[in-house]
Amino acid sequence: MKDFSKEIYAYALRNAIEFGSAEPGKILPKLFQHGLDKKDIKKIMPQIQEIVKKVNSLDKDGRQREFSLLDNVVKVREEKEKDLPELPNAGKGIITRIPPEPSKYLHLGHALSFLLNYLYAKKYDGKCLIRFEDANPEKVSKEYVDAMLDDINNYLGIKSESIRYVSDDIPLLYNYAEKLISQDKAYMCFCDRETMQELRHSGKECAHRKTSAKDNLKEWKQFLAGKYKEGEAVLRIKGDMKHTNHVMRDSALFRMIDKPHFRQKDKYKVWPLYDFYNPIEDSLMGITHVLRTNEFEQRVPLQDLIKDLLGLKKQTVVQYGRFSVIDATTKGREIRELIESGEYIGWDDPRLMTLRALRRRGIRKDVLYELVKQIGLSKYEVHLDFDMIAAISRKLIDADTERYYFVEDPVELEIEKKPKLKSVKIPIHPDKEDTRNLDVGEIFISEKDLKEFKGKEVRLLHLFNVKLPVKGNKAVFTSMENKPIPKIQWVSSYTPTKILMPNAKWVSGFAEAGTKKLKADDLIQFERFGFVRLDAKKKDSNEFWYTHR
Ligand SMILES: [Zn+2]
Repeated sequence: MKDFSKEIYAYALRNAIEFGSAEPGKILPKLFQHGLDKKDIKKIMPQIQEIVKKVNSLDKDGRQREFSLLDNVVKVREEKEKDLPELPNAGKGIITRIPPEPSKYLHLGHALSFLLNYLYAKKYDGKCLIRFEDANPEKVSKEYVDAMLDDINNYLGIKSESIRYVSDDIPLLYNYAEKLISQDKAYMCFCDRETMQELRHSGKECAHRKTSAKDNLKEWKQFLAGKYKEGEAVLRIKGDMKHTNHVMRDSALFRMIDKPHFRQKDKYKVWPLYDFYNPIEDSLMGITHVLRTNEFEQRVPLQDLIKDLLGLKKQTVVQYGRFSVIDATTKGREIRELIESGEYIGWDDPRLMTLRALRRRGIRKDVLYELVKQIGLSKYEVHLDFDMIAAISRKLIDADTERYYFVEDPVELEIEKKPKLKSVKIPIHPDKEDTRNLDVGEIFISEKDLKEFKGKEVRLLHLFNVKLPVKGNKAVFTSMENKPIPKIQWVSSYTPTKILMPNAKWVSGFAEAGTKKLKADDLIQFERFGFVRLDAKKKDSNEFWYTHR
C-alpha cells in the first residue's frame, strides 16, 4: 500500500481548521481520490486515527502553520485547472448524450454525470442530447420522467433540442433483431433461468443454439405475437460460451414483460435489454462521444459486436470512475419506504442527496458545475459528501449573500442603564458599504448564547456591550466601545422564523424584521448560524431550509 501519511495529515488539518476538530470518517473518503484501494480501508484506519489525534491536539495557530506547508497536497486535486481536460478524437461539434432510465429520482451522482456530458458538448460547441431509456415497463413511469426533466431543465439548466424515448423506437429495434436472426447471429432460447445460468457458468451451449435462422425467425414472430409467457423465451446473441468475459456468453437481447408501459400502453410485450438498445440508439442519434463510468467496461465488447454485426457507427468511449454518494442513501426503494412510512418528508427530505433536496436546501447549480470541473474525468471512484458541496457553495455565495440576525429560542434581555437608541445602522455585509437599519427596542438574544456567556461581558453586534447575568435575564449595560469580547447577535423588531435543519428538525426563533421583505427562494445568511434559503412565506412568519454553515 502506498504511503498516505502526507495526505491524511493535510486533510485532517483542513478538516480541523474548518470544523474545530478533525474526524477520521471525513478523511477516509478523500484518500480514494489519491488512489487508496477499498481493500486497504482496514489497514489505513489506525493510521488515520493516530494522525487525527495528533492534529486535534494542536492549537489553532499550529494547525494553520502546518496546513500552510501542506495545502497543495489537498489543493492539487481540488483546485487544479478550472477547465475540463481534452477528450480524445474530439473536434468542434461533438455530440454527447444523457441517457437516464426513468426509474428513480436523480441524485448528486447523476447530476455530475449529466453535467460532464453537457459541459463537454459545450466545450466543443457541440450538442448534448437527452434520451430516456424507458424499455422496462416494470420500472419506468411518467412520475420519474417528469421529475427528471424538471431537475435537468429547471435545476441543472440543461436544455436539449429534442427528447428521445427508447420506447418510441421499438419497431426499429425489432427490425435490427430480425437482421441479427437472419444473419444467424441471434437465436430464440427457451431454457429456464437456472438452466441457462448453469450453462453460462460452465461455458456450455444450449440445444436452441443449433436452430436454423429460418426457424428462429418463425419463433421470433410468434414471440412477438404473444405465444410465450413471461420467462418462457428470450432472444439471445450468438456470442461465445467460453469467452472469459461472461457478458459475451450469449447475453439476452429481448425478453417478454407482460405489463402496460406508461407511454406505449399495451402496444408491446417484447422489450429490448440495455446491451441491445443502448449501442443502437447511440449510433442512430449520431453520438460521437460516450462518457460513462468504468462499471460498464465489461459491456463494451458486446456492444461493439452488436454494432459491427449491424454495420453501425462506433463512438469514442471515455470512461471515468463512478460518482458515489456517501452521505445519504441513494437507493430508490429504501427512500420510497422511508417516505411512505412518514419518516422522510419526501424525495426532497434534507437528509437526502437527491437533486430535489439539494435544490430546496439552496445549493445553486453553479456549485455542481464547479464540482464537476474540479473532479473532471477521474480514474478512481469519486466519493461525494455534502462537505464538498458546502465548501464550494460557501466560496461562491459568501460575497453576494445578504446577512441578517436570527436568534434561536429567543429570550428577552432586560438591560439596566440601557442607552437610549431608537435604531442603529449596520452593514448588510462586512465587505460592503450598504447598510441596513435595525430598530432598537426590547432586546432578544438566543437562549444558547445566554447560557454560554452567562456572567460574562459580550457585545451585542454593532450595538453596545452588556454584562450577562449568571441567572435570569437581567443584564447590565457596560460600554459602547467595540473591544475584543465575544459578539452575539440580537433582534428587536422581528419576524417569527422557522428553519428546517439538515437532520429534518425545525428550529424556531426571531429574525430581524427586514427579513419580511425577502422573497421565496432567496438565499441569505443568518450571522453565526449559517446560510438558509427562504422556502415558504407564511402569513406572519417565514420558513427557511438550512443550506450549510
Ligand atoms: Zn436454450
